[in-house]
Formats: sequence, structure tokens, C-alpha cells
Amino acid sequence: MEILYSSTRDSGKKVTASQAILKGLSDDGGLFVPDHIPALELSMRELTGMSYQEIAYEVMRLYLTDFTEDELKNCISRAYDSKFDTKEIAPITEAEGTYYLELFHGSTIAFKDMALSILPHLMITSAKKNHAENEIVILTATSGDTGKAALAGFAGVEGTKIIVFYPKNGVSPIQEKQMVTQKGDNTFVVGIHGNFDDAQNGVKSLFNDPELAGEMAEAGLQFSSANSINIGRLVPQVVYYVYAYVKLLERGKVKDGEMINVVVPTGNFGNILAAFYAKNMGVPIGKLICASNENKVLYDFFVTGRYDRNREFKLTSSPSMDILISSNLERLIYRIAGNDAKKNAELMAALSRTGSYEITEQMRTQLADFYGNYADEQETAKRIKDMYENAGYVLDTHTAVASAVYQKYVADTKDETVTVIASTASPFKFTRNVMNAIDAKYDAMSDFELVDELSGIGKVAVPNAIEEIRMAPIVHDNVCDKTEMKAAVKRFLGLDSQS
Ligand SMILES: *Cc1c(COP(=O)(O)O)cnc(C)c1O
Repeated sequence: MEILYSSTRDSGKKVTASQAILKGLSDDGGLFVPDHIPALELSMRELTGMSYQEIAYEVMRLYLTDFTEDELKNCISRAYDSKFDTKEIAPITEAEGTYYLELFHGSTIAFKDMALSILPHLMITSAKKNHAENEIVILTATSGDTGKAALAGFAGVEGTKIIVFYPKNGVSPIQEKQMVTQKGDNTFVVGIHGNFDDAQNGVKSLFNDPELAGEMAEAGLQFSSANSINIGRLVPQVVYYVYAYVKLLERGKVKDGEMINVVVPTGNFGNILAAFYAKNMGVPIGKLICASNENKVLYDFFVTGRYDRNREFKLTSSPSMDILISSNLERLIYRIAGNDAKKNAELMAALSRTGSYEITEQMRTQLADFYGNYADEQETAKRIKDMYENAGYVLDTHTAVASAVYQKYVADTKDETVTVIASTASPFKFTRNVMNAIDAKYDAMSDFELVDELSGIGKVAVPNAIEEIRMAPIVHDNVCDKTEMKAAVKRFLGLDSQS
């Protein structure tokens, strides 16, 4: 059945999947949502034995209904290839009786690779299908991991340029080095004086800037987004939740139909929303456990029904979750408002005007699938140390937040359901915080000494992504104020001459 997409703020206009991918964000500032969540056509049992790529096709074809079989299979095989360092693409490791779904085996060792290795292919295919003549300019704000994953995906891709803004003091040293060493004439990386929310807001307002859009059109350019607001990122993320269940079933870790719980370390709410979509497609998922760090806006929201970003922004050891405005939550709000774009638009207007909104009791009753909690810095560090000592398994800081929140969930509920924790980054990306959590003595070492030390104690080879940047020269050294983002974009695109 064909699926069309409409904006969470205006259900009037409908677009195809390829048009939604190409645009990224709707003109009214809303996010594209499918008119319904499709049910899986094959049962979990029927999916057993399939590869990651085959399951990806079974899931994605239900959303991207205007792609032909050839087009979609071609995108999938180009994305999920030897760029991943394991054949399974998303292997599952058991530790302390819980299953860690390792989503960090792609080229930039964070879960963003799962979607960003396929997005460029989906985007180029979408441009062809819609006879789009303009060059596509990917404009992205990053809390650390999206930036590099998007750069790696789009570098050198003909017909595209990519611009990445990151918070200058808000990412890990390894994350920053990964971005500023990115090669490719079509890439542009800028650190801003501000936090991730400033970067994200700046990017959103550039998307909605009619003057800039006019100048770009004249120059044969158009923006699109590689952030998780793009439906072309959300859909590939649904795949690994289906895959995880199928693999547990294959290995006899769950019986057919048995429920599992899923824990997701959350920032922009994209990954956990994908799990929610998977549940609604028919994967036997019970609770969706939303794990936050000290920026616990989502925890407060689940407890009180009030979303309130008016609070201090904290820089933590899990920077990819340092977010106060979780963009993808809007897709959930729209749904629990009864797919009511007007109601959702009112709440989002309140959010941008006052920094907060409150949902109705009726809407709250539809959040029963979710459980929210958070872990502070000390709890996160302790979790890394304990896991290492108990199981010899080294967690990154984000996954450690999820693992700590899972322990709180079990203590609160005594729920012993089989649980999958989304493991979103390799510990090599956050080496200093990880190693310091294990033993304070490591603080004296340099970043790359720590890499080698981690490889030794964790008994894992240093990933390629790290070897690549060890000696790489810095090619991007742009820094600007959060108010100067537009000027930076115009400079890179060569649009500043006429103004
Ligand atoms: C982006 C990211 C998250 C948060 O994912 P969202 O989809 O934004 O909720 C968690 N962990 C890591 C390592 C990330 O890169």
C-alpha cells in the first residue's frame, strides 16, 4: 500500500517518501510523518535466517513505497557493505544477562552510521526520481556523532555539498578530530560558540529563511537535512530493532512472540522513536525505556507531562545526548494528539515562545509504553567501571547511561523481561572519560595513548576510524558565533558576493 507523508504542523499537503527525503524538513517547520505506520508483512519467524540487508529491505520497502525494488536494494547494498567491520552489521553481545545491540561498527563508530551510510544513496535516488536539477546542500547541526557520520557519507558524493555546525566546546576530542580532518572539497565544518541547541536552532532557521532560499535557488542550490528530522534517517533505524528481535529468536534467546524490552540512550529522540515504530509494526516490544543523562528534560516530561527546556544546559561525558530540545519528540506528540497537526503546532509554538508546553491527560495515557529515567555523571562512570570489572566489557559513556537507567528500571519494577540495550557508540570515541571511569590513573595519558591502553584492557583492536585520524592533518579550522551561521554558509556557497 502506498504511504504518503505529511507535516506534523499541517496535514493538508502530502508528499511521497522521496520528496520528504529530499526536503528534509517541511516548509512550515514541521517534521514529515507517514500517514500510518505499516505492519510487517513477514512474521518474526519468517524473517529468521535473513541477513541485515534482507531485513532492511523488508522493513524499508514498507515506508519508501515510491522506490522501486531495484532502487532500494541498490541503496541497501551500497550502504551496508565492508564499511562495517562486522558481517552482521549490528552484532549482539550478551553481558550480565542483557543484550547489547552494537550499532557502532560502521565507518565513524557511532550508531549514526546505521542511517547515514544509506541516507546519501536514498537522497541521490530521490533527486533522480523527482528530476531535481539543483545541487543538494546538506545542512547539519551535530552534538558530535551525526557530523562525522554525515561527512563520511556525503564526502565526494556528486551533486551534493555538506555543511556541519558543531558546538566548539561541546564534543569529545576524538569527535572533534574526526570532523576537522574530513577530506573532500564538498565538505565544510564549523565550530560555533554555543551549545548543540544553538546549532540546531540556527540550522532550523536557515532552513526557514526565505531570502536565503531565494539566493540559493538562483545559484542552483537547495538545502536538505541529514539530521534525524529527515525521515530518511528514521526509517533505516527501525530496521535494527526488527533485526535484533529476529536474531534473539534465531538463537533461542526468546520464544516466538515473547516480549522484549528496549533501552535507548536518548538525545534528539530519533533512535527511540524508531523503536516505537518497530513496536507498532508488530515487533513484540514491551517497554521502551528512555535513558537520559543530566539533561533530563525527557525524564521530567514522562513523569509530569510537561516539557520544559528552561533549565541549565549541562556538558556531560555523553555529549551526543546533551540536548534540551529533542526534535523527534514532535513526531510522538503529533501521534498522541490523535494525528492532530493543529494541536501539535500549538504546542510547538508554545515551546518556541516560552520554552515549554504541557500535554493533556488524554495524551499522557498514550505514553504507557514509555519509561523514562536518567543517570548522573557519577552513576555513569560507576556503570562503566562495574561492567568492566564484572564482564570485561567496555561500554562507551552513552551506552553506560542506558545501562545505568536499565538497572534503575529493574529496581523500580522488578520486571525481568529479556532486554536489549542500544549500544550507540564505540568506547574508542570517548576514550578519556571511559578510561578515567575505570581508573583515575589514566588521566595523565594523551588521547592516543589512551586509545592503545583501551585496546589492551578491553582486548579489542583499535577501530579503523581511530587509526585514520591519528596522524591526519586538520583541514577545517572555522569557528564562528552562533549569530554568524548564515554568513558562514553564504561564504562557503559563494553567495556572499552580491550581498
Ligand atoms: C546521537 C546519539 C545518541 C542519541 O540518539 P537520538 O536519536 O538523538 O536520541 C545517543 N548516543 C550516541 C553515541 C549518539 O551519537
